[in-house]
Amino acid sequence: MDMRKVLVFLVAIVAWPAAVGAQRLPDTVVPEHYSLWFAPDLQHATFRGRETIDVQLKSASPTITLNAAEIEFGETTISAGGAAQTARVVLDPKSEMATLTVPRPIPAGAAAIQITFTGILNDKLRGFYLSRANGRAYAVTQMEATDARRAFPSFDEPALKATFDISLMIDRADTAISNGAQLTDMPGPEPDKHTVTFARTRKMSTYLVAMIVGDFVCRAGTSDGTPVRICSTPDKESQTAFALEAATQQLAFYNQYFGIKYPFGKLDIIAVPDFAAGAMENAGAITFRERILLADAQRASIGTRKNITSVLAHEIAHQWFGDLVTMKWWDDIWLNEGFATWMTSKPIVAWKPEWKFNLEDAGDTQGALGLDAMRTTRPIRMNVETPEEINEVFDGIAYEKTAGVMRMIEGFVGPEAFRRGIRSYLTRYSYSNATGDDFWNEMTRATGQPIDRIMKSFVEQEGAPVISVNAQCAGSSTEVTLTQERFIGAPDASSPAQQLWAVPVCFKNGAGRPICDVFDRPQKKTSAPACPVFANADSRGYYFTQYSPDGVRMLAAKASSLAPVERVSLLGDEWWMVRAGRHDIGVYLDLAGGLANDDTAAVIDAMGTRLPYTGQYIAAPAQRSAYQAWIRERFGPVLDGLGWPGPAHDNEERQSRRAELLALVGGAGNDERVQQKAYELATTYLGDRSSLPATLAGPILRLAARPGGAALYDRYLAQLEMLSGQPEEYYRFFNALPSFTDPALVQRTLTYAVSPSVRTQDTSALIGGLLGSAASRNAAWAFVKQEWPTLVRKLGTFQGIPGIVGSLGSFCSAEDAADIRSFFAQNPVPAASRALQQSLERIDNCAAVVARQSPALTTWLMAGSH
Ligand SMILES: [Zn+2]
Repeated sequence: MDMRKVLVFLVAIVAWPAAVGAQRLPDTVVPEHYSLWFAPDLQHATFRGRETIDVQLKSASPTITLNAAEIEFGETTISAGGAAQTARVVLDPKSEMATLTVPRPIPAGAAAIQITFTGILNDKLRGFYLSRANGRAYAVTQMEATDARRAFPSFDEPALKATFDISLMIDRADTAISNGAQLTDMPGPEPDKHTVTFARTRKMSTYLVAMIVGDFVCRAGTSDGTPVRICSTPDKESQTAFALEAATQQLAFYNQYFGIKYPFGKLDIIAVPDFAAGAMENAGAITFRERILLADAQRASIGTRKNITSVLAHEIAHQWFGDLVTMKWWDDIWLNEGFATWMTSKPIVAWKPEWKFNLEDAGDTQGALGLDAMRTTRPIRMNVETPEEINEVFDGIAYEKTAGVMRMIEGFVGPEAFRRGIRSYLTRYSYSNATGDDFWNEMTRATGQPIDRIMKSFVEQEGAPVISVNAQCAGSSTEVTLTQERFIGAPDASSPAQQLWAVPVCFKNGAGRPICDVFDRPQKKTSAPACPVFANADSRGYYFTQYSPDGVRMLAAKASSLAPVERVSLLGDEWWMVRAGRHDIGVYLDLAGGLANDDTAAVIDAMGTRLPYTGQYIAAPAQRSAYQAWIRERFGPVLDGLGWPGPAHDNEERQSRRAELLALVGGAGNDERVQQKAYELATTYLGDRSSLPATLAGPILRLAARPGGAALYDRYLAQLEMLSGQPEEYYRFFNALPSFTDPALVQRTLTYAVSPSVRTQDTSALIGGLLGSAASRNAAWAFVKQEWPTLVRKLGTFQGIPGIVGSLGSFCSAEDAADIRSFFAQNPVPAASRALQQSLERIDNCAAVVARQSPALTTWLMAGSH
């Protein structure tokens, strides 16, 4: 699953309920095969179903327990040894289980469970649910993590793999897609219906079952002989070509990389009008949010094309990591998500080297380190039992931290040895399940390197190390003392218990191969190849690096000798030294200002949230205009030098850099000249889409909001009415709405967010956007408190609510933290408990950072000469 585009990163608490295991099925019955038949009724939002589950009983028993939620059982029988018995069904809604009991014990060995049942097509985007577009209804599934039980009674745990025969009786005008290829399509048996039957699946987990019913059209291609299709509602068919090109390239790449041919026969990839996550890796039938899959191949912005490509690469990688080999239980979800995230850049680097996807990887690592800088972070592997707990571990720790640790180890052992280990692991556990230990033991065996020791230290303990580098440069030899300790990203943080990692530290060695060694003690002395020392070569390490302020200045003076990806991580490291109160903010601002002319967009992007944070929080009101003036003076001329909107044929890197600088100067720099010009360009763009390069359109529409006011707001809303068939364009206007900060417009956006005009999948993006901005934050929070019952009713507890709770971390005072804490004491959010802990810690940390750095900013601004 790809949740990154939807949820803000969540954080863990380290307590779990005493009743561990209470929600697991007994291990006495093993499913082998499901025959499933469904008849969805789109008009009444219900479905009928019947199933036969072939199982093996380990011992004789009169009862069988399986999972079911919001399912009504009809006739239920269990057959074994030639005798069929009617079963009595007792439901336990709390544990989402059903126990079937028959009069005479079922003997050990083979048995068949037959159940007829009915269920609801819900509006909460989970299980089997209803989606709407263009006046039509669709029935689609999202089973991960624990919602297959809402579609059919099942042994709904990842280790209980089985094969599936699926057939669907649907309306005459509709089509159906499932995991297997379509075998037959017959009229009837009921009037105005037809029945579509799909090929038997390979052995797989229940959370990977997919059914997609409605008015879909598909664009077809092939990759290495495998049929590949991109499917959408009919009005969006013209926007499927780019995804098809990317998907066919990636499938062929993975066939080659893994040395195991794509195992699921055909691959359909379907854009679904209402979808909670970003995308879902159902075996052979991947589902997507529309805006992450569909775009005009010629006109799409570079950001949209990168996003489509990277989420596709993630989901297709899952067909091996996750679908072919699956974690035994959800505590090892990082095996699925971390590895799919780690693989993402590989096919893309091969396909579009000019996109320099290692920069995206470095940005991902920075995001995960930001989570690990908190006390409320969690270890990669942690115990989870309930659906709420399971839902919350799909976070930046499972995805980006695991991927970062993988990149570090791959860099250390070398890509060929690492791939040997991966192939060996996938081959050994195909169509089966594995644990984290299985993975690192296999990798250690296949590579002969201490991968188990390194991985255990990063997987089993929480947080991340900061490597402090004390370098004595003398002539040709550089003596270095390294120390490691857990990093906490807040000033005056009392030191947590002593932790040690086995961390491969790699020194940059000019143009030569980096010099790497596993550092596993609190301190060591070593020598580095050159001065100034850069202790995270190629930014592959998953750790913070602390240099002395002088060390940072020396690196900044020689920034051109660092790779772009190293400049990105240097900016990240220095920012965290400021957040922790280890350095004054002036050290960071000198570094950032010195890199204003950097020709890599990702380097400007690395400042894109930190410089605004400094202006919004650290700068006291009296300092703010001087700080904004510094941004304008330092970055304005670079933007003017590039010119904007600039020539349409400019290369993508320049377009991206221009977009980053525009947001910085017009936003954090509050440059009214830039805002006014953006307004003029936006009004032209409303009538003529070709007037702006797509990559610039988003930032320009947002910057135009301030001068544009209510009149422009109305024109954006009118666009949204017309753009339902063009996801990229729709979200360009949609995402600009929170930039209108006039109080009356803020209220309109809040009301709009919970209106039927906004899909429930998008509500939290609008509210979160308003919570993120100083001008609308208080109004948005007051609205959330007042409309809480409406929000919970509209969104359910699993999607949307965690995003809103996460966005509350943008407050910055103890009073606000107390208010938030007391509200949620009255209105508990069990599916967002970590998000809440994380937001509260963010607020506390922010207040402490402001107290520590605000005086330092004054001193730095007064000193001038930057
Ligand atoms: Zn995923």
